[in-house]
Amino acid sequence: METHVLIIGGGIAGLSLAWQLAPAFPVIVVEAEETLAYHTSSRSARQMQPSYGPAPIQELTHRSIALVEQISAGLSSPILMPRLMMTLGTEAQVQALVDTHTSLTALDHAQTMHRSPDLRPETFEAAALDETAREVDVPALLDFYRREAVAAGAVVLTGHAVTEVEAAGTGFTATAGGQKFTARIVVNAAGAWADDVARMAGARPRGLRPYRRSVAIVPTQFPVDPAGPMVEPADESFYYRPDGGHLLISPCESVLAEPGDAQVVEADIAQLIQRIDAVTTLGITGVVRAWTGLRTQPADGLPVVGMDADVPNFFWLAGQSGYGIQTSAALATMAAQLVTGTLPDEDSALAASLSPQRAGLN
Ligand SMILES: Cc1cc2nc3c(=O)[nH]c(=O)nc-3n(C[C@H](O)[C@H](O)[C@H](O)COP(=O)(O)OP(=O)(O)OC[C@H]3O[C@@H](n4cnc5c(N)ncnc54)[C@H](O)[C@@H]3O)c2cc1C
Repeated sequence: METHVLIIGGGIAGLSLAWQLAPAFPVIVVEAEETLAYHTSSRSARQMQPSYGPAPIQELTHRSIALVEQISAGLSSPILMPRLMMTLGTEAQVQALVDTHTSLTALDHAQTMHRSPDLRPETFEAAALDETAREVDVPALLDFYRREAVAAGAVVLTGHAVTEVEAAGTGFTATAGGQKFTARIVVNAAGAWADDVARMAGARPRGLRPYRRSVAIVPTQFPVDPAGPMVEPADESFYYRPDGGHLLISPCESVLAEPGDAQVVEADIAQLIQRIDAVTTLGITGVVRAWTGLRTQPADGLPVVGMDADVPNFFWLAGQSGYGIQTSAALATMAAQLVTGTLPDEDSALAASLSPQRAGLN
């Protein structure tokens, strides 16, 4: 099959870029698994939190929330809802957070208890509140990206693992699912496998490493307020939030792993339940289900986005770590502008901070 852009990876990165590029070029997305977004993109906490992450991530998150609000407004039911984020700590910790993040406001002890009456009052002094944080319906967002891409002419193939990529003339030939493809541009949106795909194409790996993180859905003895905030301590050692009448909880572990189908370590969830029972009066009574995904990032923790300087027309869209959902719409927009050479001048510093050529990637 012949195309202009071959996107390797059918997670949120690959599908969002297909949404942006398909109106301009023939695009084929090839996904190794039989199901799109089988790996990290279907295993997130579905949160978009502007106060989370380094400055480039915060900027991309603000922009993505605005874009997803527009997307949501055009759909039959909303896919973005308020899910305030509350960070608990000492008064000094909260002041330090509020001083460094413009989207945070300080709550004193009484205000925090009012927002979240299930907290054990002796476990914190104050909280920082991010009222701009949102919860997003990720399956609906993924489906929007896929549908729009296909409506604009993109072809999305599952069960097509890319096993070979070779530079050929001004483009590439690739083999996926036993089929041959030729493309002018190859996009590496392969998540935890991005460095493997780079090696296949003759590009230098950028030190992208997958770290596992788990989430569980747990029932509670006392009812969970469905409109309650997401809550974490200042050291970010766990979080919980309401989820369909239960609690969604995470131990926030970050453990180096191999690319693959990440599996839950049950002891992590058991310890987490004890920790959450120590800070709330909700009383966790079991585990409905739990899952683990891989957050992939390079040494400096920022995504790797842009053309590879040494392998012409090999484009990186990888390393989104724990921010791939909350940045997807704006990151795909910027990636498409980089592919088409239409990046606005005012975004050149932001793009440079994510460039595959930046120092310290190996
Ligand atoms: C527990 C957890 C909670 C999270 N919570 C949040 C959150 O609240 N908010 C947020 O913004 N982010 C969150 N994240 C991070 C977010 O989920 C990721 O940043 C994002 O999903 C990465 O998307 P991706 O498309 O790059 O990767 P993936 O979804 O992993 O997609 C990459 C795809 O490439 C395919 N692939 C690999 N090699 C090949 C090949 N050779 N040929 C064809 N296909 C190939 C894979 O099969 C895979 O489907 C969380 C992550 C975890 C683990």
